[in-house]
Amino acid sequence: MKKRAFLKLSSALVAAPVVSPLLAWASGEKPKNWAGNLEYGTDRLYPAQSLEQVQDFVRKQARLKVLGTRHCFNDIADSTESLLSLKPMDKVVELDPRARTVTVDAGITYGQLCPYLAGRGFALHNLASLPHISVAGACSTATHGSGEKNGNLATAVSALELVNASGDLVKLSRERDGESFHGAVVGLGALGVVTRVTLDVQPTFTMRQYVYQDLPLSALKDHFDAIESSAYSVSLFTDWQKQRLNEVWIKDRVEQEQPFDAPPEFYGAKRATRNLHPIAELSAENCTEQMGVSGPWYERLPHFRMGFTPSAGKELQSEYFVPRPHALDAILAVERMRDQVTPHLMISEIRTIAADGLWMSPCYKQACVAIHFTWKQDWPAVRALLPVIERELAPFKARPHWGKLFTLSPSRLRSLYDRLPDFTRLSRTHDPQGKFRNQFLNRNIFDA
Ligand SMILES: Cc1cc2nc3c(=O)[nH]c(=O)nc-3n(C[C@H](O)[C@H](O)[C@H](O)COP(=O)(O)OP(=O)(O)OC[C@H]3O[C@@H](n4cnc5c(N)ncnc54)[C@H](O)[C@@H]3O)c2cc1C
Repeated sequence: MKKRAFLKLSSALVAAPVVSPLLAWASGEKPKNWAGNLEYGTDRLYPAQSLEQVQDFVRKQARLKVLGTRHCFNDIADSTESLLSLKPMDKVVELDPRARTVTVDAGITYGQLCPYLAGRGFALHNLASLPHISVAGACSTATHGSGEKNGNLATAVSALELVNASGDLVKLSRERDGESFHGAVVGLGALGVVTRVTLDVQPTFTMRQYVYQDLPLSALKDHFDAIESSAYSVSLFTDWQKQRLNEVWIKDRVEQEQPFDAPPEFYGAKRATRNLHPIAELSAENCTEQMGVSGPWYERLPHFRMGFTPSAGKELQSEYFVPRPHALDAILAVERMRDQVTPHLMISEIRTIAADGLWMSPCYKQACVAIHFTWKQDWPAVRALLPVIERELAPFKARPHWGKLFTLSPSRLRSLYDRLPDFTRLSRTHDPQGKFRNQFLNRNIFDA
């Protein structure tokens, strides 16, 4: 072992005797996020195996952040002092068929949970584009899928347990804790270490997925609501060029009263004749099955399959939520910027999300359309472009995704969240000294 790495490992042993440091980065290298665009500010990463280890670790640290599966593109999960991973805590604690809930350890990913649920006859209401992400990390940032009747993934949370800054276990539930529960679910990692999450489940269901190509922009203008309500989940992919949307992904529940009848033509778009990647030039090998083949919900709701690299890999992402009544105007505003946007873009995705009651959700009390950008990994170019996009979307009060890249000023961001003062108060009750705060939270939430 290199001398530097050994010294770091030794100091880790002194700092955290209960949590095994053996899995810590022994090379002395700082870990990176999934996309590799962010190197975290410390190499001190501790994997906790149990609630007691989490509590012990929290009590001993002055500051820390929890890492989920590291899929955020910005520094929301970053720490310059210590990182805690709950990856080893990935068990299903209890499936309660009568209450229709499942309780899981916070380190579990959707990829681990979904086959378990389906095998026992249950399902979640929705999923993000990929199953690789942790349940706790996804809910903490209001991660979402698509479907105008579907709330984001955090809306399925009916209870959670977290370790606060004193190391005490706090249990919160939708039923018991009302408003403060709604403040805690999209917690941005600011309240403490979430150790368990209880999610609503429903009977398992079967889905079919169809992809259409080349939807004319004029058809979207004339039929936006009809297109979005044509199935359980609809995603539009576009490079903003040629006055058309490259692909429409339609995810339909088979057992519905009015299943999607998959005509050869859909508002001028043509049904694809083979599986497609959202970026049509890329292989569809890592994508979920299309072409109307029936399959379990968890193999159709995400675009990308477990066991394969999701999306494109070497990329950056940004996303903005616009209240649904402004959807079309916002889409057209971005379309007008096409010649600035497209050179830096891999693909954009447009999705709808139902309103919810979670204080820090971008969909708090408003149904939204989300306009997403998968960028080439050229941060200087993207950083220069984001303020231009944000300026154009400002009239629609666009809110950025908590886990993706944005340049909105902290004061503007704070002004977009009515419940932010309540959220900071709630955070302080669980973490009076800011143990779980980092630069992202200080900058954007706490104005510190
Ligand atoms: C390829 C790709 C596709 C994506 N697709 C979508 C999509 O379809 N829809 C969408 O909305 N987003 C999408 N995202 C973004 C992603 O869902 C979010 O970044 C999400 O937060 C990732 O979860 P994570 O566990 O990796 O979080 P991390 O980046 O590890 O952490 C995120 C935040 O959660 C906190 N956190 C994690 N675990 C805990 C815990 N146990 N207790 C307290 N705080 C915790 C962290 O401290 C941090 O603040 C995508 C990202 C990638 C890379």
